[in-house]
Amino acid sequence: MKRYPSLLIAFGGNALIPRDRAHPHQKEEFLIARRSMEKVADLVEQGYDRIILTHGNGPQVGRIFLQQELTRDEFPRQVTLDVCVADSQGRIGYILQNVFDSILSERSLATRAFTIITQVVVDPADPAFNKPDKPIGVFYDKEEAKRLTTERGWTLKEDAGRGFRRVVPSPRPLMIVEKQIFHDILDLGFIAIGAGGGGIPVRRTTWGRLEGIEAVIDKDRTSALLASEIGIDTFVILTTVKGAFLNYQSKQPHLIRRASVTEMQGWLNDGHFLEGSMRPKVEAAVDFLARGGQRAVIAHLDELDDAVEENSGTQIYPG
Ligand code: ADP
Ligand code: MG
Repeated sequence: MKRYPSLLIAFGGNALIPRDRAHPHQKEEFLIARRSMEKVADLVEQGYDRIILTHGNGPQVGRIFLQQELTRDEFPRQVTLDVCVADSQGRIGYILQNVFDSILSERSLATRAFTIITQVVVDPADPAFNKPDKPIGVFYDKEEAKRLTTERGWTLKEDAGRGFRRVVPSPRPLMIVEKQIFHDILDLGFIAIGAGGGGIPVRRTTWGRLEGIEAVIDKDRTSALLASEIGIDTFVILTTVKGAFLNYQSKQPHLIRRASVTEMQGWLNDGHFLEGSMRPKVEAAVDFLARGGQRAVIAHLDELDDAVEENSGTQIYPG
């Protein structure tokens, strides 16, 4: 009998919202989630029985943050970024869990999915805290930017002629607090949804308490860490392009179909993958394989089945 590899599938945050629309209707979010989850259900039907789903939250947390900013006169007590990330995990987790339940009932499949609000320990001494560089939320003019710096202690950076934006640190994920729960859910035969938006950044105080931190963690890095900690075989990163390309911004970009870790490492060093988008995915794939993973793949959201079957996307192998 064929043994099905365990999978961790990471959805890009942009993949879960309608494209090119500033104010999508909520119904569309459900429809898009449904399209993705139908594909996950196909895998379940084929026999894949250990599946973890993770997801980004860039556009969603951006909106939560914006809503706060726009109502700050009415609600001056703002929630911190860790709580915004938790909100987005709940929102996206609910939508995925809800549509998946319907799909599984329609197909008379017995499994179900559970969302795990996920906290991730970071190191307060991480150098990222000295150079916040991950932009979030809306643009401000120079005056406002000055005021926010003094009033709230934010760091704001000018973004190529579009104004000033808040930037926050993006520290490395060290440990998944809810790791055991992911194990347990898989052992029970269910699908786990978690580590949304890279997880809620927390630090462990000397008293052993967990404390939220105003930062965001890269979802590709956290997904790789979770995949290795759980001992996942295949790490699948789904996004809105067909895979990792060489010479991406040239007239003749070349899709990498199969590569070893060593080859990918070389192309990373040569600067083929852009910072903040493809680079963290390739790094995450390489890290996962260096820690004992069997295969990593970066592929388009619509090609999940082929990506899992080694027929599309960028397939990366140890070595
Ligand atoms: P996600 O929400 O899935 O994390 P990102 O926008 O962060 O999506 O990353 C995917 C984007 O990476 C693509 O839309 C593409 O524009 C960009 N990109 C940068 N370098 C490359 C490359 N070498 N190959 C393919 N895509 C690349
Ligand atoms: Mg991304």
